[in-house]
Amino acid sequence: MTGTPTAEKQTHVFETEVKQLLQLMIHSLYSDKEIFLRELVSNSSDALDKLRFEALQNNKLKSLGQDLCIRVEFDKEKRTITVSDNGIGMSEQEVIENLGTIAKSGTKAFVESLTGEQKHDSALIGQFGVGFYASFMVADKVSVHTRRGDVGVDEAVLWESAGDGEYTLEAADKSDIGTRITLHIKEGEDELLNDWKLREIIIKYSDHISFPVEMPKAQTEDEEKNEDAAITYESVNKATALWMRAKSDITDEEYTKFYQHVSHDFQDPLIWTHNKVEGKTEYTNLLFIPKKAPFDLYQGGEKRHGVKLYVKRVFIMDDAEQFIPHYLRFVRGVIDANDLPLNVSREILQNNRVVDTIRAGSVKKVLGLLENLAKNEPQDYIEFWAEFGPAMKEGIVEDTNNREQLTKLMRFATTKTDEPGQTVSLDDYIARMTEGQEKIYFVTGETFQAAKNSPHLEIFRKRGIEVLLLSDRVDEWVTMHMKDYQGKQLESVAKGALDLGSTDDKEDEAQRESEDKDFAPLIAAFKTSLGDKVKDVRLTHRLTDSPACVVADENDMGLQMQRIFKAAGQAMPASAPILELNPEHALLQRLKANMPAQDEINDWGSLLLNQAILAEGGQLDDPAAFVKTVNQLLSAG
Ligand code: ADP
Repeated sequence: MTGTPTAEKQTHVFETEVKQLLQLMIHSLYSDKEIFLRELVSNSSDALDKLRFEALQNNKLKSLGQDLCIRVEFDKEKRTITVSDNGIGMSEQEVIENLGTIAKSGTKAFVESLTGEQKHDSALIGQFGVGFYASFMVADKVSVHTRRGDVGVDEAVLWESAGDGEYTLEAADKSDIGTRITLHIKEGEDELLNDWKLREIIIKYSDHISFPVEMPKAQTEDEEKNEDAAITYESVNKATALWMRAKSDITDEEYTKFYQHVSHDFQDPLIWTHNKVEGKTEYTNLLFIPKKAPFDLYQGGEKRHGVKLYVKRVFIMDDAEQFIPHYLRFVRGVIDANDLPLNVSREILQNNRVVDTIRAGSVKKVLGLLENLAKNEPQDYIEFWAEFGPAMKEGIVEDTNNREQLTKLMRFATTKTDEPGQTVSLDDYIARMTEGQEKIYFVTGETFQAAKNSPHLEIFRKRGIEVLLLSDRVDEWVTMHMKDYQGKQLESVAKGALDLGSTDDKEDEAQRESEDKDFAPLIAAFKTSLGDKVKDVRLTHRLTDSPACVVADENDMGLQMQRIFKAAGQAMPASAPILELNPEHALLQRLKANMPAQDEINDWGSLLLNQAILAEGGQLDDPAAFVKTVNQLLSAG
């Protein structure tokens, strides 16, 4: 990581995405330009955390982990603001990686994904910690003078850029370790060159930082006259770890600022929970739920920031994923454990009893928080669900211990609302089940429209039985694991024989028997014609308007699931569907009355099967052949 820096001054070009990001910054994306200071102080605070952590293991750094602080100074004449820290610093290689490229793939992907129009949209970029680059909102030149904690005086690096696509790097001396960032303030931003203004910004955004953020003390008249008088500094912020303070002493605004610091989110958090847990395992957690999901939450993208782990106030790591299950990966905040060794590694955290206890306790708090939100602020909860519902659903599979509570937290679109918004809980559903209804019914589809218009719903709509409309990608998978809730079985309307419980009319039974007899020859002919394209052909009463539908056999994989596997390029045993025919439909009535020749049966069979597959949102193996059949039948008719 270290190494003697390049002696001569070199010019480098920024990575394309950095250039784009700089363009965004310079053309003033933010109305709040003063946040540049928050970003620099936050980086310094991270650098101090890292030094304290590395000092635990690295002898060279041992003596340095003391009197850690951040200093903010300005010079009105030279028009500069300086932010310095005695933290870990950077080697030349680290400077190139950190300040010349966007190291984090998420931010990179985000910048790449912006269209021309979106590039003018400041709201979008608000999701990202653009961090250091924010300096260029107020400065026309930025110098970063940095020396890593474990290298010599002459191994420091000086990085400079005007934010115009290039930066220079050169070797430099630096007597103390850490980083000093000097901003050459743009014309027109003069109000920043002011003691009172800078103090105000620090208190506004960085009060919660656990290290002192110092500024020079106002000088007495004597001191001002004496040019040699040493400058004394004073802390502007409170400088205690916010999560260690008593809840009653922390204002909502302080919590909000702290959230923005740990999450690098520009928005306010939705809600939070702050707990000091005493007893066998002692820890403090402060966990936040964001308002908006990061754009790559469902793309398996990197987990930005996550939950930070501290051990007895010492920062240990970012994104301590062992403490929060994957489905809650959107939770941000800190966990400060008392009973872990300071030299914990990710390996030690695996299968560790203390970690398990903290994790279980933290999940309980988050789920409890959400339960309260659902009860007290149902509208906010619906909005939360719209953002994070698919992730929460993963919990059904991942977190079997909390399945009941998670199921209660789920919200669905249903045939009662017929809106894509997921607003109905299973408790609501059960409370309004029709008389005699014993099960909770659902249908899955590729899209909300496909689920909503599924032919399988016809009989349910006719009888006024509510059906859950599931169209999130995870739904197929989740429903395989969610067998029941409150003693009511969950059942797909597109699988197996239709069982409407005692809502079925008993009088119809006799009629059905005679239908079965009347249709037997036609059914037999279709079976012969369709061969192994179908598992079976049978009559159904689940349809009212459509002539036919396909269903999966009781124990086969659902059709939608088969499609997901296929789309993912995964081999799986294809199970043929069951073709169900509506004996009341005019078309079937006609075919039964005038049984056609086998040729024509072949055409009708293929037409009925293929249209049923299409209505399911499925794809045909041979669409051209289907079109030909349709045209043949139309011209013959
Ligand atoms: P972020 O803070 O979100 O990671 P930045 O662009 O602000 O993104 O910073 C990029 C990286 O540069 C940081 O992750 C850190 O490694 C490094 N860095 C920035 N400021 C400092 C500093 N004062 N001391 C040490 N490293 C720093």
